[in-house]
Amino acid sequence: MQFSDYGLTDEQKALCQSVRELCARYPDTYWMKLDEDHTYPTEFVEALTEGGYLAAMIPEQYGGMGLGVKEGSLILEEISRAGCNAAASHAQMYIMGTLLRHGSEGQKEAYLPDIASGKTRLQAFGVTEPDAGTDTTRITTRAERKGNKYIVNGRKVFISRVLHSDLMLLLVRTTPRDQCAKKTDGITTLLVDLNRAVGDGLEVTPIATMVNHQTNELVFENLEVPVENLIGEEGKGFRYILSSMNAERILVASEGVGDGRYFVEKAVDYANSRVVFDRPIGQNQGIQFPIARAYASVEAARLVRDRAAEMFDQGENPREQANMYRLLASEAPCEAATACMDTYGGYGYAKEYHIERKYRECRLLKTAPISNNLVLSFLGQQVLGLPRSF
Ligand SMILES: Cc1cc2nc3c(=O)[nH]c(=O)nc-3n(C[C@H](O)[C@H](O)[C@H](O)COP(=O)(O)OP(=O)(O)OC[C@H]3O[C@@H](n4cnc5c(N)ncnc54)[C@H](O)[C@@H]3O)c2cc1C
Repeated sequence: MQFSDYGLTDEQKALCQSVRELCARYPDTYWMKLDEDHTYPTEFVEALTEGGYLAAMIPEQYGGMGLGVKEGSLILEEISRAGCNAAASHAQMYIMGTLLRHGSEGQKEAYLPDIASGKTRLQAFGVTEPDAGTDTTRITTRAERKGNKYIVNGRKVFISRVLHSDLMLLLVRTTPRDQCAKKTDGITTLLVDLNRAVGDGLEVTPIATMVNHQTNELVFENLEVPVENLIGEEGKGFRYILSSMNAERILVASEGVGDGRYFVEKAVDYANSRVVFDRPIGQNQGIQFPIARAYASVEAARLVRDRAAEMFDQGENPREQANMYRLLASEAPCEAATACMDTYGGYGYAKEYHIERKYRECRLLKTAPISNNLVLSFLGQQVLGLPRSF
């Protein structure tokens, strides 16, 4: 099925085409097997790295392609649209942004070329804690400075890809919340060398989830992190995370658009070919209209993405557009997934049709990395000026 590319440049079209060709080497059956075994897509990530796609947004001086958020989001969209899973790819793209924007020149030179070449993976981001949840300022994982080291103690939950990454960007408290002038102060970002940490101060326990996401509970017990792994200034980590937020919202949501197009395409094909009561089921408006409605939602979300990404790449601050996009692009694929499941009838539940796997996967966008209620509260309070609820 041919979707409109709404004014992409020739270079962007060529980029999408090359990602599409790469993804075609990793068909649904590859992802079904990984899903069954709950394993990491090593071959796929290696192929994306070799193609330079995971380094798309790393500046050319460090070995990347030097492209913008628009191109990064097109890559993620194409991956999802092809039926592949873009989680490892989005993680690397947006976590790297904090290092790029707030790391020292020495840190960038030390890490970015190896990340660009694929020698080093930076795909783990440790924020969520069991007792803090969405209220990140309540994190209590503590890093105390002792000489030229930080000693880290605490717990994190749902931290993905820790066992498949070389580095983790970790959010810790260096000053307890009640000793800070503002609750957002006293939070610090550290880069953790996972090859050294796991088994020596960091205990990792995988969590079984409804999606294949390699997510884990982490326990830090006197983990030593060299002070040179501090990103930016101590105590300003929360601001660094916020400054990456727009890019993260746009990139992650682009998977939703890709998922949405995947479902619409599958639903249209099946609705045209499945004959019941002597006619294609797509002739029934009960089947046709939900697909058409989902198509409109997915394409509308995509148009908001283009606006948000272009503003970001022009140096503007598209916080409203990025959040609207994040919301729309998490709901639209779920709408398309439901329409697709209904179109497939019982076959939607059969694993060999691959719809149920994607259905489970796209649901995550409503919850992680940020839940939709928090996106709505941002729009309600920060954009519309409604009273704060927290
Ligand atoms: C598969 C998976 C992978 C993940 N990977 C990572 C990762 O790599 N790194 C990481 O740091 N985290 C990760 N997460 C965690 C994810 O970011 C959090 O689950 C998410 O941010 C929500 O936090 P919580 O689960 O603690 O929900 P809670 O904070 O307990 O909230 C529960 C519900 O209440 C709602 N709620 C809470 N407060 C309010 C309010 N004031 N107003 C309205 N609604 C409210 C929330 O929106 C949510 O719907 C992952 C989660 C999953 C499921």
